Amino acid sequence: MVAAAGLFYACPVEKDWDILAVDGGCGREGGCDGRDGREGDDGRRGDDGHRDGCGREGGVLLHNGFGDGLAFLGQRGPLRFCDTTLRDGEQTAGVVFSAAEKRHIARELDAIGISQIEVGVPAMGEEECAVIASIAQMGLRASLITWNRARLADIQASLRCGVDAVAISLPVSDLQIQAKLGKSRAWVLAQIRAAVGFARDAGLYVVASGEDSSRADPAFLLEYAQAAEQAGAERFRFCDTLGVLDPLRMYAAVRALVAQLGIAVELHTHNDYGFAEASLLAGMHAGASWGNTTVMGLGERAGNAAMEPVVMALRELEGVELALDTRRFTALARYVATAANRALPPDRPVVGSNIFAHESGVHVHGLLRDSRTYESFAAEQVGNRRRVVIGKHSGHHAIAARLAELGCNLDASEAAALLGEVRRAADAKKRALRDDELLQLVGRRR
Ligand SMILES: [Zn+2]
Repeated sequence: MVAAAGLFYACPVEKDWDILAVDGGCGREGGCDGRDGREGDDGRRGDDGHRDGCGREGGVLLHNGFGDGLAFLGQRGPLRFCDTTLRDGEQTAGVVFSAAEKRHIARELDAIGISQIEVGVPAMGEEECAVIASIAQMGLRASLITWNRARLADIQASLRCGVDAVAISLPVSDLQIQAKLGKSRAWVLAQIRAAVGFARDAGLYVVASGEDSSRADPAFLLEYAQAAEQAGAERFRFCDTLGVLDPLRMYAAVRALVAQLGIAVELHTHNDYGFAEASLLAGMHAGASWGNTTVMGLGERAGNAAMEPVVMALRELEGVELALDTRRFTALARYVATAANRALPPDRPVVGSNIFAHESGVHVHGLLRDSRTYESFAAEQVGNRRRVVIGKHSGHHAIAARLAELGCNLDASEAAALLGEVRRAADAKKRALRDDELLQLVGRRR
């Protein structure tokens, strides 16, 4: 069973929820520094530029009218991101990044302001280590973390790479403990204690990761996370390895964990059922303070939670101030897609080429009057571009506006007359018209 079994999501209006006032700061007694004061020491070198101590500043631009009483519950500090494009992203079947591509991606993530970059798996060997070491020598502001099994050799390899943080991972579901490792729960607990203790003694920032957390016995999951905390881990990574938790179940699972742990909780989600981003946001509402995401959702099988929609949802829908340069999102997504040897899907949220493309006459008419009618934020905020597409569903306002941009001014009656020809041409071609095709239609009429 999933971790949330029996803990099904409490309705947001239930009385005993410690709902926080949206306008009243973070609402945590004693402020938002976290219970143990450790969160400030999250590993990002120097001033990480996060202005927001509690994630509750800033305003929602346009209220949706629903759930304005919802707020974030008890994060140990501001919301942060650990990007795993270079680790879980590259683990995607068929994806290989070159060393130069990895360095470029790391540099861009750092320029965006991502707190921590998961740079790879040193246990894979010398070549991987050399690339990780070269990233560690780039002088990035971001903390660099590697992925490790709970083995001393893995952690020693990470130390040789010069990173400042390690994620140490063990399976925590009985299925994986038995089928994959052939071991017992007691063995898992002993391993995580030893590995975390070793890494801490070596001066590393330690994230204890629970593979398949979402299918673990919740009682054992807590035992594992608490063992890691006692051994000195700074953060617990809850992995929905198969993406099986819907947002409501994720909320319940994270809420239960956060209530019992003194360290920050990070979420690693997958998109097998299409829940990756929604579940991550739900988990943040429940108290997780770190999101483990990838550029454009690149990741094994159906992918991981994508950085871009999660960040934009936090900023635009939840009013959370994040000191991230989102204008770099689209260019980085295109770069990662090319490096991964795949197309960036046009309908990929936030960064796809169709996200700010409009064809419908009614929509374009509204947009031309006020962009907020059909765009919840401006394309420029994410480095994307608005396109008015002239096709079967276009109206005469859009046709006239596009032609005016091309230096061809039509009066209203000419534009209306052209409408039928545009529709017939688009029907025949089964696609939108290019600018030259549109101009040709005008030319024929004149
Ligand atoms: Zn994963």
